[in-house]
Amino acid sequence: MTAHKILLEESEMPTHWYNVVADMPNPPAPPLGPDGKPVGPEQMLQIFSMPILEQEMSAERWIAIPEPVREIYALWRPSPLCRATRLEQALGTPAKIYYKNEAVSPAGSHKPNSAVAQAYYNKQAGIKRMTTETGAGQWGSSLSFAAQMFGIELRIYMVKVSYEQKPFRRSMMQTWGAEVLASPTNLTQSGRNALARDPNNPGSLGLAISEAVEEAAGREDTKYGLGSVLNHVLLHQTVIGLEAKKQFEKIGVYPDMVFAPHGGGSNFAGVAFPFLADKAAGKKVRLVAVEPTSCPTLTKGHYAYDYGDESGYTPLSLMFTLGHDFMPPSIHAGGLRYHGASPLVSQLLKEGVLEAVSVPQVATFAAGVQFARAEGIIPAPESNHAIRAVIDEALNCKKTGEPKVLFFNLSGHGHFDMASYDRFLAGKLEDYDYPEEAIAAALHNLPKVG
Ligand SMILES: *Cc1c(COP(=O)(O)O)cnc(C)c1O
Repeated sequence: MTAHKILLEESEMPTHWYNVVADMPNPPAPPLGPDGKPVGPEQMLQIFSMPILEQEMSAERWIAIPEPVREIYALWRPSPLCRATRLEQALGTPAKIYYKNEAVSPAGSHKPNSAVAQAYYNKQAGIKRMTTETGAGQWGSSLSFAAQMFGIELRIYMVKVSYEQKPFRRSMMQTWGAEVLASPTNLTQSGRNALARDPNNPGSLGLAISEAVEEAAGREDTKYGLGSVLNHVLLHQTVIGLEAKKQFEKIGVYPDMVFAPHGGGSNFAGVAFPFLADKAAGKKVRLVAVEPTSCPTLTKGHYAYDYGDESGYTPLSLMFTLGHDFMPPSIHAGGLRYHGASPLVSQLLKEGVLEAVSVPQVATFAAGVQFARAEGIIPAPESNHAIRAVIDEALNCKKTGEPKVLFFNLSGHGHFDMASYDRFLAGKLEDYDYPEEAIAAALHNLPKVG
């Protein structure tokens, strides 16, 4: 019998995270203040605690995972590496398809890998409260779980459309003890400004970040936690790729291509960066980020300094961006709506080390349904982007006869996203290409640096 699950013992869980900065061809571009000068730690310390900031700026190749973090990871880690033989058969492809199942975490996605670490370090630094934002609810539920594990109070600014459309993600956060508010609120200046512009403002991720950052900056006992994009978040997620490499080693297989959905870059980096170290040493492996055509940050965005949030509270990062005032089209159901991208992923993409593709949403749901019917698991709509790209590559292998090893990150399950599946099954989802004119226009609103 072909092995379907390649498992590791708890004792084989990685003891260190991998920091890609140590192996980058060029040092990462520094975040800048509005004056065009690199931001000092003082400014960052208003919203992040010291241990988090140290990781954010570290160039050490390996960073030890604290024992209390590993103990909580052990509630679901190591996660299985699975072979999708039924999907291979359904496609009639000679390709071998593997996926890492991050849906087995308490919150149902990869996000707790960083949430647990962030809650731990803030607790260590004597922090009592945290604020954060959430869009679809995955990050908010992950940090709620993690904050509960370490006895930290948590307030979550949840993008208003999601708050209304995803009541059960909200209950999940409340079950783990967090307070959840629909953003924009009238508790912050950013929220009040947004409501003054439009009382029916549906909210956006950028705006919710502004609210959460503003509150954390204004309170001594409170720090902010971000679920993606930043270097320390990507670092924590490398536990995924490090486990996967051990699992592949056990069966003597090495992937030709690694795929992951891309929103802010954390699960993609988490699964891909540990392979990048091998690539730097001469291994041939392609690392592909997959994003929606409705939010084509990596494939069509500008590589420029931009804010991470809507109001411009964050430092400027050099990254691919659609402009910090990007508002995602309301017909978009598949997540991955952030205007920017991780600076590390952006730089490595710009330097040609990584690749990115975009896929239209109807085809991503079709891929998700095909995966569910073959393998059983109903994937998160975000994960469907990677599955689409993998299926397309596997069908390509069918034409060429190549038995490529294709590996993707199943970043989460879709149990809270059935309303989106409903719309797909009822034929009500549409494709949408973010217009070229809007992308060109975003260039004019980018902050002037220096
Ligand atoms: C948040 C999320 C993503 C996208 O975020 P990244 O930081 O790009 O990983 C992808 N899949 C799932 C299931 C998510 O919850």
